[in-house]
Amino acid sequence: MVINVIDERIDELIKIINKANVDYYAYDNPTLSDQEYDRYMEELQRLEEKYPDKKRSDSPTSRVGTEVISSFKKVTHEKPMLSLGDIFNEDEVISFDGRIKKVVKNPKYVAELKIDGLSVSLLYEKGKLVRAATRGDGRVGEDITHNAKTIKDIPLTINKPIDIEVRGEIYMSKASFNKLNEEGNNFANPRNAAAGSVRQLDSSVAAKRNLSCFIYHLPNPEDYNIYTHADALKFMKELGFVVNPNNKRVDNINELMEYIDYWTKHRPSLPYEIDGIVIKVNDLNDQEKLGFTARTPKWAIAYKFPPEEVLTRVKKIVFTVGRTGQVTPSADLEPVRVMGSLIARATLHNEDYVKEKDIREGDIVSIKKAGDVIPEIVKVIFDRREGDLKPFKMIDICPMCRTVLSKKDGESAYYCHNEECPSRMQERLVHFTSRHAMNITGFGEAIIEDFYNRGYLKSVIDFYHLDKYKEELMELEGFGSKSINNLLEEIENSKNNSLERLLFGLSIRHVGEKTADILGASFKNIDSLMGASYEDVASIRDIGPTIAESVVNYFSNEENIKLIDALKNEGVNTVYLKKINNLETMFTNKIFVLTGSLERFTRDEAKEKIEALGGKVSSSVSKKTSVVIAGSEAGSKLAKAEELGLEIWNEDEFINNLSKY
Ligand code: NAD
Repeated sequence: MVINVIDERIDELIKIINKANVDYYAYDNPTLSDQEYDRYMEELQRLEEKYPDKKRSDSPTSRVGTEVISSFKKVTHEKPMLSLGDIFNEDEVISFDGRIKKVVKNPKYVAELKIDGLSVSLLYEKGKLVRAATRGDGRVGEDITHNAKTIKDIPLTINKPIDIEVRGEIYMSKASFNKLNEEGNNFANPRNAAAGSVRQLDSSVAAKRNLSCFIYHLPNPEDYNIYTHADALKFMKELGFVVNPNNKRVDNINELMEYIDYWTKHRPSLPYEIDGIVIKVNDLNDQEKLGFTARTPKWAIAYKFPPEEVLTRVKKIVFTVGRTGQVTPSADLEPVRVMGSLIARATLHNEDYVKEKDIREGDIVSIKKAGDVIPEIVKVIFDRREGDLKPFKMIDICPMCRTVLSKKDGESAYYCHNEECPSRMQERLVHFTSRHAMNITGFGEAIIEDFYNRGYLKSVIDFYHLDKYKEELMELEGFGSKSINNLLEEIENSKNNSLERLLFGLSIRHVGEKTADILGASFKNIDSLMGASYEDVASIRDIGPTIAESVVNYFSNEENIKLIDALKNEGVNTVYLKKINNLETMFTNKIFVLTGSLERFTRDEAKEKIEALGGKVSSSVSKKTSVVIAGSEAGSKLAKAEELGLEIWNEDEFINNLSKY
């Protein structure tokens, strides 16, 4: 039974991949996104590794590209043109280096930009270009000499009258690609545009498309007494080929990581697209020792940049009411992995945004996530819209309390103005407990909703009265005395927070985390803040009139004054306790990197402590890093820190140094 299911899935995956290969390689018209394609390939590879006897001999995992089906003359490559293995993160770079080191002592590498085009083989006889061919299925490609001759980077005659084959990448610059699409073409990306252009029977089309070419491989180096890849690049440059100027010899893993970091950041400034970094063993003898698989060389690998955009389907458009009453549409998505995290929701901001992008339930959309930012929909893939999808319509009453929604002047967002709206009240409670506010762990949205509905929590003061319901809470499903005691302890601990956390937690309009800190540092305690006039607040640096007005309004409201009194009566601290920032400490102006898992802090807590003492926290290790704080199971960052000879603290040392201030 299981066996059949596996066989069926393998057959199905092969069918999907084969079709995608033909659409992509033969017709230059991809019907899947690269991430979807990679996901199918990965699944197939995983199944084949787990059930090796089920691997089909015609599996696309052991082939390159697809068979040539065009009417071009076929060319058989003397040596196969292979693909490259993929890796996606620093740990995999370290593993690759580890694999190489099992065969080769002290390997040196050349790191190159991975140009997003299509590979080409160029054959010269007595220094004259006689044949250009595509990769095809790696063994047999297509003769595209007529088109290659129109590419200015491909010399018709080289600087020595020798016989030679070189290989490289034909690509289209970003500028030429944009121009081409502005002229009414509809290529998905520069790679497809380049491939579509060289595979035209009429060479005047390719000539107009302004293609370029970088050369990066010499298949028969021994014929020219060349023994390293770096020398091969130099030699080919001397012959008159265009070799990418950013290729670099890297002698160890640190230099490699730096190269990757650099190009990850600077990639947008290049005039052409790259989709990763290619790492190649430099010594050609070593390359030979390492050898090949059926599909890829073992001496090279492609580090692929994280996909910036991924496709998925909008299942439903839902509406949430935030703590300020703002009603925000969001898209419920078919879950998809973007830059390491599983994404099932994307914000749609407001009505104008959804209408402008014409996002509808059922659409295939491309989504993007940058750093920790909430994922966003970049665009609808209109070509893949199927059936009669209904255009988006904004709701006009609050989905929670049925209050009629309205817009504020000049804003495109709709608001529920009912201060008692259950959704708004619950959001405020959730916010009060959040990490950067009162940091009361253990309360998720679901628990708060439940406690709210049972009447245990209505306002933030009720957290401090929750112990009254201890017996009832223990009766609830999913709660034992231990978890209730933990919750109550967390609540008790929150009483000692510094003022800025309380100010942020109160959901005062326009008072974000940073503003709360400025107010706390300026007024030192809540009484002086409550007694401050509009002018007092507005005169503080970085506090504008809108914030000042909102703060003064908040503290002149009777209900809010009562709330603050009640919080004080419960023993909640209302004094600014943070250390003065200009105190000179051993953290001041130093750059820290946190890695591994710390037992006594979350990452955010550790970051907060470092910043409070004047330090900065960065996410990547470089020569500029002052100290790496390594928790348990620290991986590549620790290894890199050790190689760079940086100062490293374990968690105890970190705590010890914190306690000095
Ligand atoms: P690849 O693009 O992942 O890597 C190998 C290629 O990189 C080489 O063949 C060469 O052309 C190129 N390259 C660029 N710069 C290089 C350099 N400096 N040194 C060496 N090589 C360099 O592999 P591939 O086999 O060409 O294509 C597979 C990928 O293509 C998939 O991972 C997927 O992203 C995409 N694909 C997508 C679909 C789809 O339906 N969307 C279908 C098939 C393939």
